[in-house]
Amino acid sequence: MFQIPSKIPNTSTTIFTTMSALAIEENALNLSQGFPSFNTHPALLKLVNKAMLKGQNQYAPMPGILPLRERIAEKTEKYYKVKYDPIHEITITSGATEALYCAITAIVNSGDEVILFEPCYDSYAPSIMINGGIPKYITLSPEDDYKVDWVEVKKNISSKTRAIIINTPQNPVGTVFTKHDLECLADLVKNTDILLIADEVYEHIIFDGMEHISLAQIPGLWERTFVCSSFGKTFHTTGWKIGYCLAPMALSAEFRKIHQWITFSVNTPIQYAIAEFMKNENHFLELSAFYQTKRDLFLTYLKGSNFRFSPSKGTFFQCLNYKNITIENDYELAVRLTKEIKVASIPLSVFYKNLNDNKILRFCFAKDDEMLKLAADRLCKL
Ligand code: PMP
Ligand code: GLN
Repeated sequence: MFQIPSKIPNTSTTIFTTMSALAIEENALNLSQGFPSFNTHPALLKLVNKAMLKGQNQYAPMPGILPLRERIAEKTEKYYKVKYDPIHEITITSGATEALYCAITAIVNSGDEVILFEPCYDSYAPSIMINGGIPKYITLSPEDDYKVDWVEVKKNISSKTRAIIINTPQNPVGTVFTKHDLECLADLVKNTDILLIADEVYEHIIFDGMEHISLAQIPGLWERTFVCSSFGKTFHTTGWKIGYCLAPMALSAEFRKIHQWITFSVNTPIQYAIAEFMKNENHFLELSAFYQTKRDLFLTYLKGSNFRFSPSKGTFFQCLNYKNITIENDYELAVRLTKEIKVASIPLSVFYKNLNDNKILRFCFAKDDEMLKLAADRLCKL
């Protein structure tokens, strides 16, 4: 047997895969991995079928089919007031995961540092390390409502800082970067060659009248940012793995060089279908209200419980603090609840490099109402 040195020795199977597998094994309600329990819009399914029957089944162009890139350009201009040239500055990818990986690979060289705010999504650090980069963590705390201290960020910037990754709305804690935050960021990177990667996959899932602000909207940021998004979240199709990256021409050119050698292009019929489906803007404009209702329902059901929480500001995740229930560590508790009360969740510690245990579990509320009620009933008994 060959033994090969691992490029990312500390990586194991993701917590999402682990918890979903356990949920299936235990026949538990799966509120762990972030995916809807309901189907996508029937009209979108019909459009995919139509494209397939029409014969739109061969390779798409490397950057994606033009009509889809045009729809994205129109949407971005209309709602964020920023322009991207669909020919040169928009690339369709195999989900946001590929977009993030290509952006990181295009810019990170050996020894480069990339600033991350933890708790953070699990794909960033491995993607940086595969490219020889070094993740520099800034730890955000629930006590401060996960607010970023920009003075501390400044202290972490060095001549090795190549990029900063921002996720807004944020998975796992549902926080949202304000205009003020992003202006502080712009101030910080002014007169540097630091690049930005914006993970905006939850751009259309934001609550209580707040507005998503894309990094691209902030003066001084558009020119240095890769904006990554995903149709998986927006159209309830996480299994289709389709997303995109917006970036100015010079950045997109390097991005595409990587994309070309990873997937080359993304599946064709789904691109045609989404391009058509996006013509009805309600399909993404109604998403925040749809998920806000679900969040509120879940939290109403949990009112009498011993969990402490503040309502998620965006994403389809709700964090619950269990300090009043048990002193167990969050991983053990997540596993025990899956086995004993048959409700699966994600322990928040996995989103921290040092597995900080703040006694918090993350629950995905992209689920049927009955499932939310059933899960909450069981959680209320703790
Ligand atoms: N970023 C964040 C913050 C996510 O939550 C996810 C997926 N849940 C992704 C990126 C990856 O998106 P995709 O499934 O489109 O690859
Ligand atoms: N992003 C999803 C989550 O946070 C999971 C994606 C995955 O399983 N890789 O739950």
